[in-house]
Amino acid sequence: MIPVDETVTAIRKHVADWRAEGETIALVPTMGSLHEGHMALVDLALEHARRVVVSIFVNPTQFGVGEDFSSYPRDLGGDLRKLSLVADRVFAPTVHEMYPPGYATTVSVGGPAEELEGAFRPQHFAGVATIVSKLLLAVGPDFAVFGEKDYQQLLVVRRLAADLRLPGEIIACPTSREPDGLARSSRNVYLTAEERQVAPRLHQAIETAAEAIHNGSLAATAVEEAHQALLGAGFDVDYVELRNAETLKPVADQDTEPMRLLAAARLGRTRLIDNVPV
Ligand code: AMP
Repeated sequence: MIPVDETVTAIRKHVADWRAEGETIALVPTMGSLHEGHMALVDLALEHARRVVVSIFVNPTQFGVGEDFSSYPRDLGGDLRKLSLVADRVFAPTVHEMYPPGYATTVSVGGPAEELEGAFRPQHFAGVATIVSKLLLAVGPDFAVFGEKDYQQLLVVRRLAADLRLPGEIIACPTSREPDGLARSSRNVYLTAEERQVAPRLHQAIETAAEAIHNGSLAATAVEEAHQALLGAGFDVDYVELRNAETLKPVADQDTEPMRLLAAARLGRTRLIDNVPV
């Protein structure tokens, strides 16, 4: 079985041992309940580094009041089995280890954290930035791998790592999808059988809009059509937005800027997010 460290001291020691051997190290931060999307991150980590540490920590500070922190799917035994042949160590700290009693320090982020998810989940990216900082400082990797599935998070982490000069080059992994296009997510287990049938329409809607924009359609029209398609399919739509792929600012010139189409929508009690390049 793959070895598990529960303390910062322990993971630091093992990483230091690898370093003394001249080995490179990649970190894959996760909240566990691992699926094929996470395993794609591990595979990409192995392409960059000799040793791979996967962290498993359901980070309480990135969940808002009334969100699913207590019901978030947890399966440490299953996760360890999935990782046993592919990763080198798991870092699975307790909440007290990462947030010592009386903790009073958090990281705040602006820039790419401000809109979209930041508007709908006000404390979310501060929680993400805080835990990612702690994990990168605990492990001190050469590389850290994040998924494009959470595209805004990826940009927030890049900004954070640059601003705080955190250790580790940030590597992006493309979104892993089910055969019908639904982005893989630990939260997909919340979907009822009926909702699961509808869920791929989120990807279909933004992919259709992205193609239309690519082919010269007016962005506002294509985005509105995607929004209407989602409402028609039964989603409650939080946003469908075309943004600059590097800054996440609204697109001023759709002929010259790199663009990303991002969406968040709810089906019953499940909130789905997805994004595609344009
Ligand atoms: P999570 O466990 O949901 O916090 O995700 C941990 C990491 O896996 C994050 O960097 C996510 O962006 C990434 N991830 C989650 N789902 C996918 C997916 N379907 N494809 C690619 N990366 C993913």
